[in-house]
Amino acid sequence: MKLSKLISSTILVVLFSCKTTDNANSVHQTKPKNVILLIGDGTGLSQISSAFFFKETNPNYARFKHIGLIKTSSSIEDVTDSAASGTAFASGVKTYNGAIGVAVDSTEVPTLVEIASPKNINSGVISTSSIVHATPASFYAHALRRGYYEEIAADLSVSDIDFFAGGGTKFFNKRKDERDLLNEMSAKNFKIDTTALGSFDTIKNNDKVGYLFGSEHMPSIDKGRGDYLPRATELGIKFLNKDKANFFLMVEGSQVDWGGHANDADYLISELIDFDEAIGKALDFAKEDGNTLVIVTADHETGGFTLASTTRKNEKGEEYSDYTQVSGTFSTKGHSATLIPVFAYGPGAEAFSGVYENNEIYHKILKVTGWK
Ligand code: MG
Ligand code: ZN
Repeated sequence: MKLSKLISSTILVVLFSCKTTDNANSVHQTKPKNVILLIGDGTGLSQISSAFFFKETNPNYARFKHIGLIKTSSSIEDVTDSAASGTAFASGVKTYNGAIGVAVDSTEVPTLVEIASPKNINSGVISTSSIVHATPASFYAHALRRGYYEEIAADLSVSDIDFFAGGGTKFFNKRKDERDLLNEMSAKNFKIDTTALGSFDTIKNNDKVGYLFGSEHMPSIDKGRGDYLPRATELGIKFLNKDKANFFLMVEGSQVDWGGHANDADYLISELIDFDEAIGKALDFAKEDGNTLVIVTADHETGGFTLASTTRKNEKGEEYSDYTQVSGTFSTKGHSATLIPVFAYGPGAEAFSGVYENNEIYHKILKVTGWK
C-alpha cells in the first residue's frame, strides 16, 4: 500500500469512528435537527405494494427499517377525511371530518409550523393539489370547514411558512373580497412565482418563496405534471436548509387519493410512483445530512384498493383467478378505515415503530426533536 493511500485510509478510519461514536461531537445526533413528513393522500398498504409490482426501479419505500401502523379514525367518524387526519398530524388532536386546525369544540389548535417557527425553525409545505386543500392547509391554517379556501389562503399569506409549492392561484387573486394576496405576500419579502420552479440559485437570496401553478389543482402525472413533486421536494429542502437552520417540511402526494376515488388504478399507481420519487429525494438528503428524520405515512386509504389476482375466463366461459398477474381492484369510491403504515428513517426513527393513533405522530415528532 502506498503511503498516501495509507494516510487517506487512516483518515477515513478516524472519520468513520467519529461518525459512529455517540458523543456530543458526533455527526449523527440522536435528536433530529430537521423533520420531513411525507403524506401520500389515500395511500394504504396495497397502494404502496403497487410500487413493488409496477415501478421499474426499486421503490424508495424499501429503504426504511423502522415501520409502524396508525389508526386513522377521526373524533366522530370511523372513516376519516384528509382534514381531520391532517389536523391530527399537524396539531396532535382528533377532530371532526372537515376541520382544519380546530378541535372538536371549534377552538383553534396550534400547528407544528406555529410551534416550530418561534424557535427559528424554517417550515415548508408542498402538494400536487391546490395549496389550500385540506392536507397542506392543516399545517398553517384554522378553519371550521375545509371548503373555506379563501380564508385558508388568507391564513397562508400571514403564516410563518417559508417555502410552499402547489396549485390554486384563484384563491389568492380572484377572491370575493377582491384582495390580491399574491401582491400582499410579494410586498412582505415573499418571492412569488406562478410560472415554473426555479433553480436554487434563483431563490437562495430570498427570505421566503412561494410557487403557485394553475388556477386550482395541478395536473395529474398522466396530464403532464412531469417531475414537479420530486423537484419541488429537492428544492424545498435546499431552500429551508440554506442557512443551516433547523426545518420542518411537509410534502404531499395529493392525487393518489384521487386515483382511488376515481377507481382508476393507472391514475393511482402513476401518482404513487411519483410520490415514491419524492420520498427518494428526502431520503437522499437525510442520508447525506445525518440529522434529518424522514417520516412517510398517509392520512387514510382510498378506494379499498387491492392487488387482486386477475379474473379471466376459461374456454367454457367460467371465471377463474389467474395468479400469474395482479390487477388493481377497488371496493369503494370513498375512503376506508384500514390501518395505515408509517415509515421512518434517521435520528428518532425508532419512536415510530408500533401500533398507535394517527395524532401520536405529532407528539412523537415534538418528543424526538425537543421542539415543544
Ligand atoms: Mg390531500
Ligand atoms: Zn379523499
